[in-house]
Amino acid sequence: MKFDLECSITLSKEAENLQEELNKFLKDMAGEEARGEIRGDKLHLRVVSTKKRSHQIVLFLYKRLAMLFGKNRIGLRDIHLDRYDIEIELDKEPIKEIEVPYAKVEFDGKKAKILIENKGEEFLWENYVDRIIRLIREKVERQYYEGKKEYWQLIWQSEEKKEAWNKDPSEEMQKRGWIKLMGKGKWFFFPPAASIMRAMEKIAIEEVVKPLGFKEIIQPMHVSFETWIKTGHLEGMPGEIYYICEPKSREIEEWEKFVDLLKIKRKVDEAELMKNLKPPKEGVCYAQCPNIYASLAGKTIAEDSLPLLIFDRSTPSDRYEAGGKHGIERVDEFHRIEIVYIGTKEQLAEIREKLIERYRYVFDDILDLEWRMAKVTPFYLQQAGIVGKEEDELKGTIDFEAWLPYRGDRSKEWLEIQNVSIVGEKYVKAFNIKAQRSQLWSGCSGIGLERWMVAFLAQKGLETENWPKAFKKYLPELPEMPKFL
Ligand code: ATP
Ligand code: ZN
Ligand code: MG
Repeated sequence: MKFDLECSITLSKEAENLQEELNKFLKDMAGEEARGEIRGDKLHLRVVSTKKRSHQIVLFLYKRLAMLFGKNRIGLRDIHLDRYDIEIELDKEPIKEIEVPYAKVEFDGKKAKILIENKGEEFLWENYVDRIIRLIREKVERQYYEGKKEYWQLIWQSEEKKEAWNKDPSEEMQKRGWIKLMGKGKWFFFPPAASIMRAMEKIAIEEVVKPLGFKEIIQPMHVSFETWIKTGHLEGMPGEIYYICEPKSREIEEWEKFVDLLKIKRKVDEAELMKNLKPPKEGVCYAQCPNIYASLAGKTIAEDSLPLLIFDRSTPSDRYEAGGKHGIERVDEFHRIEIVYIGTKEQLAEIREKLIERYRYVFDDILDLEWRMAKVTPFYLQQAGIVGKEEDELKGTIDFEAWLPYRGDRSKEWLEIQNVSIVGEKYVKAFNIKAQRSQLWSGCSGIGLERWMVAFLAQKGLETENWPKAFKKYLPELPEMPKFL
């Protein structure tokens, strides 16, 4: 490791007479590591360290230098990073070159040589340097699991069920006019289809969510960038988010040209529109849990309110799925119930067991599905050795999947219909959520209503007489489809 930092501090006036005092000061404060030279009103500082990070030493010195010069009625105006040479040792040898903003990076075996030049003072104060180093380590680490699939391990599988048909329910519903595509990956549900979705929702709420004591909340559909920076969504899936722009103004005069062009062209002039919009600072809900955590930020939960059990069904989730869309099962806007649980490890283990038991009841006894459960672990987590440790056995995601007869092959063609996750302390830490005494963990479970519906219809068909009795209790008959000529 080597950190060689050169920077210059602008003084409020010339101060060459203080050179000797400075030499003594640097020797006392940083031994051999720091050297400084005053030229006119500039103090040139060079810090070379093999143990500590030089930028930390500089920040440490800066406050004390302010006092030293202050005694002589000289102020420090700003600090500029002239050149920073860093050499660090990586865990693994990079497979290929990488690029990061603000720095040049070269590799020599496991050694990374980083060069940062000519940067303003926020660079030092805001700790960009440590984040650049972390980013380099992360990018090299990522080269080792790029393209690898998540690890998937079957936990449980139901018996085979005789399928009622092997057609694609989305296509069939479209033929009957029950659903209509409204732009990219967004569907309009006419009464028969809507009633099936609502029946799914009712089952989830009455058979799973309410019996386990989850309480309903209502949240905004917009999610701020601050929230997504904390949860990691903005760095994890920036390409799947629908961004929201505010207008620059609501005054109609400001929109006059836009409206005039619209009246003449009968279509939107995109360039004119963009002139009237602010850059986005938020996006449409991607999953409901981030806003739930944000609502609890900084709070201390009373012991007798643990575990905290809440659920949301107020907002749809939007995702830019691009090429992957299919029917109502992979869409750009879908409807989920998301439940969130915050409590001790023991409480979360118990909630997960109870959830699985209730879900099992729904899939076996109400929807009568052919389904299975699998433990899934993203590849990078396996690599990091996080999986396998006993306490971390609890962490992770269980996917619930159903067979889709219309896609054929029973050994392969399964669809994730929901999941149950325990994320450990990641989110409670990110949002600073605490308890009086207990160590908190959290997790969530997202029930995809379109996915439940597709799984059910793909296996049971659209003819109500083939539907299980227990389901018909929730939907005794389908509302009639309006007739169109
Ligand atoms: P997939 O691997 O299918 O893209 P995901 O891992 O992105 O799913 P999660 O973020 O874990 O999904 O969301 C949880 C649940 O949300 C899924 O189990 C599913 O029910 C639902 N879901 C996610 N994406 C979609 C989509 N594009 N259309 C419909 N439902 C979805
Ligand atoms: Zn979630
Ligand atoms: Mg996805």
